[in-house]
Amino acid sequence: MSKFHDLLRRGGPLMADGAMGTMLFQSGLQHGEAPESWNLSNPEKVRAIQRQYIDAGANIVLSNSFGGTRFRLALHKLEGQVAELNRAAVELLRAEIIDSGRDDVLLGGDIGPSGEILEPLGALTFEAAVEGFEEQARALIEAGADLIWIETMSSLDEIRAAFAGVRRVSADIPVVTTLSFDTHGRTMMGVTPEQALAAMTELGAAAVGANCGNGTDELFAAVQRMLATGPSVPIVAKSNAGMPRLVGGKAHYDATPEEMAAYALQVRAAGAGIIGACCGSSPAHIAAMAAALRANPAGAAVTTTPVVQATAAVDDTVAARVDDRAARRAARRARES
Ligand SMILES: [Zn+2]
Repeated sequence: MSKFHDLLRRGGPLMADGAMGTMLFQSGLQHGEAPESWNLSNPEKVRAIQRQYIDAGANIVLSNSFGGTRFRLALHKLEGQVAELNRAAVELLRAEIIDSGRDDVLLGGDIGPSGEILEPLGALTFEAAVEGFEEQARALIEAGADLIWIETMSSLDEIRAAFAGVRRVSADIPVVTTLSFDTHGRTMMGVTPEQALAAMTELGAAAVGANCGNGTDELFAAVQRMLATGPSVPIVAKSNAGMPRLVGGKAHYDATPEEMAAYALQVRAAGAGIIGACCGSSPAHIAAMAAALRANPAGAAVTTTPVVQATAAVDDTVAARVDDRAARRAARRARES
């Protein structure tokens, strides 16, 4: 049995992580810079973000490799470094998981869309797409990813290509797939939640769901539609922190940790098995969500009042733990030098 299925059997929803891109920009990533390049140029900053998600309570943390296919990296003239950048993505996160001492954190090798449109609508052939995803998946899996997480997809054909690429490398690594239902309840390519769930279940996905999109209400609706069909796999809910709002040409997300905590309770009550967040979220959002789920036993009425209190308490605990670890690391460095 995979570590993923073992963890699922322990019961309760698994916590996934929150935004990586948002956090990288906050850490100084410039627009036009490839986030994956930071795996080599700023590894400490990537690790610090992932460590905060681990400390916030995430059970699944994704590698910094969302744009790690040759297609996306080519936009930055980095297509020759697919293996190196994806391998580094896994190695950084693995080191941070080991350092945390937790045995209930899985490393998800993150794969995002190619950014290309497949034939017949676009120019990318299915086989070329499979090869591109295979190249990325090989680096992620050989470096030790526990599972592969294919996310923010719009096209079923593209997911099939990504899935096939992964399966050329490993016959049995668990593969989670999520789509972005951001166009009137469908993906940009017109796929409904029910169609996505049926197709991904048939492919053999270990979990299926929705991520990104236009805020928690729309994401909740997509997740509810999947759950209403009686799925045979866990359903993933990974919403953006609210509806994106353009300010000065950049997306802003307004949902507070308390609001995301209320969303976590809402999707768990509906039956979601893996709960996290996407663009605009931070470790504070994930900490608030994890605290709310702990403080409100499954099956209890969804209420927001205790959530806020639990959130404040956990924020302090996380901050204290992070401070404590930073102090210990500094002390260790001082001893070593
Ligand atoms: Zn997103």
